[in-house]
Amino acid sequence: LPRVLADVLVNQARANPTAAALQFNGIECSYALLAAECKRAAMRLWHGWGVRCGDRVAWLGGNHPAQIALLFALSRIGAVLLPLNTRLAPAEWDAQLRNCSPRHLVHDGAFASAARDLATRHAMAGHTFDELVRDEGDAAVPEVAQPDMPALLVFTSGTTGQPKAAIHTQASLLANMRIAAQVQGITRQDVVATMLPLFHVGGLCIQTLPALYAGAKVILHPKFVPEAAIDCFERDRPTLTLQVPATMKALIDHPRWPGADLRSLRAVWAGSSVLPAPLVAAFHNRGLPVCNVYGATETGPFSIALPPEHAVSHAGSCGWPAPGVQVQLAGVKGGVGEVLVRAPNVVSRYWPDEPACDEAGWFHTGDLASRAGDGSYTIVGRSKDLIISGGENIHPAEIEAALALHDAIAECAAFALPDDRWGEVVAVAVVRVAGAACTQEELAGFLAARLARFKLPHRWLFVDALPKTALGKVQRGELVRRISPSM
Ligand code: ATP
Repeated sequence: LPRVLADVLVNQARANPTAAALQFNGIECSYALLAAECKRAAMRLWHGWGVRCGDRVAWLGGNHPAQIALLFALSRIGAVLLPLNTRLAPAEWDAQLRNCSPRHLVHDGAFASAARDLATRHAMAGHTFDELVRDEGDAAVPEVAQPDMPALLVFTSGTTGQPKAAIHTQASLLANMRIAAQVQGITRQDVVATMLPLFHVGGLCIQTLPALYAGAKVILHPKFVPEAAIDCFERDRPTLTLQVPATMKALIDHPRWPGADLRSLRAVWAGSSVLPAPLVAAFHNRGLPVCNVYGATETGPFSIALPPEHAVSHAGSCGWPAPGVQVQLAGVKGGVGEVLVRAPNVVSRYWPDEPACDEAGWFHTGDLASRAGDGSYTIVGRSKDLIISGGENIHPAEIEAALALHDAIAECAAFALPDDRWGEVVAVAVVRVAGAACTQEELAGFLAARLARFKLPHRWLFVDALPKTALGKVQRGELVRRISPSM
């Protein structure tokens, strides 16, 4: 069994040398080649750049095999990868780099100019991955990596507050690979299509690393493009893919979707937020089970999962705790409580040194869920998003679902605004369908016929688009700031 991350590739290169590990831009790289490149990169990192255990090395780029190779190369010498979110503004990168203080930044060519600026501002040496593997050589690298050493820093999305850098260790990443590969039944025969960003745990840890752990092939896309995704499904015949609601929507809206050949896929896994029922139904109607995976940056993220055999019967639920993952609901009221997770794939700290879990090792997710008689969980919202008005708990999802029934609504988000009288009141941000001219009064009347009075919005915000993270999560804090800039 692999003890540290680097063992994963060493083992596969021994057992499975000629099998394809990665495919990128139509070019395949075998396990033997990937393992050899990682070994060479580790040698350069240690001997050439002087990177030591615990040192951080940042990566800036779209999805690229170099990021994966860099993670494994760093893991050989006990050093830590910090992937930067390519969508952030320079000031946000600055904050993350100040927090984690890497001395080296590796980038892909497309980000050369941003990387140069960042390297200058933060006294980092900037490199391309090619520089790491250019030189031949066989100097040995000391086997210093230990399972409890940090291997990966991933920033949370910051949907509810300031992003924090969760510290995944060699052991937590390995545990997550094992758990995710087991639940999805990934084998050497599988071909995984990765289209979501590798700078989040979703893109990296749900299918990509578990596929390498299992000796499967990963087709890596630089980013999600609907046309390229459909091409990939038809030409490269993947058996598994991971999507989020925004990419599922883009797929079903594509003119080629109705005729697309999706037969190679045995399941589509999806997560990151509650999966809207119509999207799930659109996939089920094409004979494709949509499996739900629930978790957070801090939890690996593979915590609760709905496997294919229950995808239709339990649509809307996120299923059962994965093997070895303990889940409990805290402070249950009316059948709903906060999800707590304790598992070997959960991080224990944030960088540089802040505990992520309580004294008993439970991570408090801030998500609210109910548990059915058969032990399956359904996420009903987030405690921080809950709107408490005059002592009543209002779930934004309930208001959003009611409003979404109106033909003129393309998208909407409900959120809390502070209020002197009620504590908080409901506000909604609305994106109208192109060309729809319905008024606030009309929408308010529509909701009044469907919801209790205390749940009705006090403020309406009409916007062209909802502010969202890279994975399409609505940034409610940003909406509040648009109404009250001082918050
Ligand atoms: P921050 O912690 O910085 O505010 P964040 O919580 O959005 O940001 P992530 O770790 O990226 O950071 O997201 C984890 C959250 O995503 C979970 O706590 C949950 O709210 C939501 N989530 C993930 N998967 C699912 C799912 N399958 N169903 C419903 N919600 C999900």
